[in-house]
Amino acid sequence: MKILVVEDEERVAHFIQKGLKEEGHAVDVAYDGEEGEFLAEVNEYDLMILDLMLPKKNGVTVCREIRERGIITPVLMLTARDSIEDKVRGLDAGADDYLTKPFVFDELLARVRALLRRRSDVKTPTLKMADLELDPISRRVLRSGKPMRLTTKEYSLLEYMMRNPGKVLSRTLIGEHVWDMNFDPESNVIDVYVSHLRSKVDKDYDVSLIHTMRGRGYMLSDEPPFM
Ligand code: CA
Repeated sequence: MKILVVEDEERVAHFIQKGLKEEGHAVDVAYDGEEGEFLAEVNEYDLMILDLMLPKKNGVTVCREIRERGIITPVLMLTARDSIEDKVRGLDAGADDYLTKPFVFDELLARVRALLRRRSDVKTPTLKMADLELDPISRRVLRSGKPMRLTTKEYSLLEYMMRNPGKVLSRTLIGEHVWDMNFDPESNVIDVYVSHLRSKVDKDYDVSLIHTMRGRGYMLSDEPPFM
């Protein structure tokens, strides 16, 4: 999943970013409200973690403004103190949940999972392509009923492809959704991951699902694509 963290305290921002990356998420960080709002408007995130007290524009204003522009990304608001007033203001502005600082990472992660789950419940619970199945909640992947062991990045890549079946996914698109904004689309990292993924998903089966679209990117499909 792709997550935006808006937090001006660098130490806290990096702590959150590192932890979420270890869980296999792509994480962008903004250090003030204006930058956070800009990123939320130009990129599509699955979740936003938004600090309340921010330079340039506070979290409540950012949240209200992105909601006014029709952005429905779930927002987890971070509040510095346990003030009922702050929480109410945050929720009124369109935040989905809040967490009081200081927090332990496990608690943040539990909230993140709950918000992402709520979001994926709205979408299809299990993603399917031919005999390949991916369950975003348990993160289990099966092909022909056989479980597959994927690394966190391979899993994220496959989930993104399964959410976009039959579409040509360019390296830039994949980089944006599965890696973070510092990803260099010129590098061959994506090709390397796709090749690892392919050796797990397709190698032992008659029907190939991951297709290379020469010069354009990759596509997940159970039919051979037109070139
Ligand atoms: Ca702050």
